[in-house]
Amino acid sequence: MRVLITGGAGFLGSHLCDKFLAEGHSVIAMDNLITGSTRNIEHLAGRDDFLFIKQDVTNYIYIEGPVDAVLHFASPASPIDYMNLPIQTLKVGALGTHKVLGLAKAKGARFLQASTSEVYGDPQIHPQPESYWGHVNPIGPRGVYDEAKRFAEAMTMAYHRYHGVDTKIVRIFNTYGPRMRLEDGRVVPNFIPQALRGEPLTVFGDGLQTRSFCYCSDLIDGIYKLLMSDEHEPVNIGNPTELTIREFAETINRLTGNTAGIVVQPEKRIKDDPQTRRPDITKAHTLLGWEPKVSLEEGLTKTIEYFRHRI
Ligand code: UDP
Repeated sequence: MRVLITGGAGFLGSHLCDKFLAEGHSVIAMDNLITGSTRNIEHLAGRDDFLFIKQDVTNYIYIEGPVDAVLHFASPASPIDYMNLPIQTLKVGALGTHKVLGLAKAKGARFLQASTSEVYGDPQIHPQPESYWGHVNPIGPRGVYDEAKRFAEAMTMAYHRYHGVDTKIVRIFNTYGPRMRLEDGRVVPNFIPQALRGEPLTVFGDGLQTRSFCYCSDLIDGIYKLLMSDEHEPVNIGNPTELTIREFAETINRLTGNTAGIVVQPEKRIKDDPQTRRPDITKAHTLLGWEPKVSLEEGLTKTIEYFRHRI
């Protein structure tokens, strides 16, 4: 296949480039580099099965020749990034999704939309199955991302139902691993460098809010399987091992040998920050035969090694 990956220079986009190349496909990565970095794909430069195009996908996209699959991963994805880039976040989810779906339709390509557990908002059902419609504040600080992704899902289903495009939607839960941006403000790139510098880890709120962290290779494997499947409705991909942010901080301190502990910063917690989050992955398991394989300790150990070389 010849595959277009938007956001191809980002954290997940660049791992997808590697995965598709390793599976023998050729890859076009598109990115405007507002949160992505060419550092993530520099090892692919010069390959004749890889092409990088610097472009904002909210503008008309022209690709010469065939395209067999389009994966739309362009978007700021950390709360700090999307609050600093609210208009770009709304535009890439809305206008960008429209452009890439138009391209998929014109090329007869299959299409995969990167959606998110944020479509469930601060959930009132736990764990979250795909059938849950969510609890989102459209005008809160996270609304720019949550509603952009909800719109993107609606647009994707419309192109499927109205134009017959072969579309897929993955709802991605918290994912971590090498190539996360040091300064993106998320909990993993905040905690690990703090621990490696021997500083206390900054726990926002009371730290009793929960998340469930998936290692990037497991996520990429699930996305690849979903793209190859016949499913059109959303599928959760994530790791159901849930822990509080305090427990997560203690795990990182233990793995890095950091003795500085934690510092609780109640005021830093962003409004509407979900209190709990854990994917129900029954559908991915039944439909795709997928489940995560990498334990939290194993994934964190690899990620700590990455950040050790970056700080
Ligand atoms: N968080 C924290 N300390 C940090 C960064 C984040 O306690 O230095 C918390 C944040 O308040 C949230 C959780 O960690 O409850 C996950 O935040 P992140 O920004 O990684 O992503 P989210 O899951 O909220 O999209």
